[in-house]
Amino acid sequence: MSPFVIGQEYERSRLLEFIGSRQMQSGVLWGSEEPGCLICTSGGRGGKKAGYSDERLSDGTWWYFGQGRTGNQSLSNSANSKLSSGKYSVLLFTTREPTAKEVEARGNYGKLFSYCGQFNVSGFDQFLPTNGSRQGDKLWRFRLLPIGEEKYYYYNEKNDLDLEFSGDLREMQYRLTSIVATKPEPRISMTEYRSRSAAVHLYASLRSNGQCEACGSVAPFTRPDGRGFLEVHHLTRLADEGPDLPSNVAALCPNCHRRVHYSIDRKEFSKKLQDAIALKETIVAGWE
Ligand SMILES: [Zn+2]
Repeated sequence: MSPFVIGQEYERSRLLEFIGSRQMQSGVLWGSEEPGCLICTSGGRGGKKAGYSDERLSDGTWWYFGQGRTGNQSLSNSANSKLSSGKYSVLLFTTREPTAKEVEARGNYGKLFSYCGQFNVSGFDQFLPTNGSRQGDKLWRFRLLPIGEEKYYYYNEKNDLDLEFSGDLREMQYRLTSIVATKPEPRISMTEYRSRSAAVHLYASLRSNGQCEACGSVAPFTRPDGRGFLEVHHLTRLADEGPDLPSNVAALCPNCHRRVHYSIDRKEFSKKLQDAIALKETIVAGWE
C-alpha cells in the first residue's frame, strides 16, 4: 500500500518523508520508514544525448536504468544491488521541470515527480548504448513489473509451478532460499518469475497447515483444492505479489492480513509476526 495517487505530482520532500530518507541527489531512494521499498525516479538523465533512457513498454512494464553516471555501471553500488536483489517493492515516479509559473507559485525550482505505480523487479540485463555520450559503457537495466494493490493472486499451481517439488516443506525451504539467495538471474523469464512466486505462495500455505500464522485461527473456508483459504503476505515489501524468500512471507487470515497493512499498530504487529515466522523457519530448517 502506498499513499500516492497514480498520475498525481509530488515534491521530492514528500517522497523523502514517506520513505524516511534525506538523500539529496540520487535517482533511487530508500530509508528507514519503509525498509522494503525503493523509490525510483525516472527522467532528467539519459535520453538521446546519452544513448539510453528509461522506457515504458506496451505491456506496462518498464526498463529502468541503473545508477552510475560515468563509465561502466556496477551491480555492487547500493542502489543497483538493491534493485538486482529482487527483494524490494519499487514506487516509480517520472520527473519533470516545473514551468516558470509553477516556480513562482511554489517558491522553488525543485522538480516535480509524477507517480506511476508500484512494481517488482522481475529481472535485469546489460545494455550497451550504440551512440551518445555513454556509447560503449556497460549499463544495467532493470525490468519493472507492475503490481496491483489489493489484488490477491490465486496461482493455479498446476500451470504456474514449473519447479518440481515433492511436497516436502524442508526441501522447498532449501530450494527456494538457495534460488533467491544466489544472485538473481539476469534475463530471468516471466515464466520463471511467476513460477518462483507461485512456489513461495504454495510454501507459505503448506507451512501454515491451514492456520493463520499470526493469530492461529483456522482458515475461514476451504479452497476448491482442499487447502484452507489464507492470504500470503510479504513481511517487508509494500506489495504482496512477486517471489521472495520463505522467511519473508506469512499465510494470514483475511482479518490479520488487513490488520498488518492498515491497523494503527501495524508496525508492532508486523514485527511480532516476523519473529514468529523466523522461529517457524528455524524449526523447518532443523527437520531431518
Ligand atoms: Zn489471523
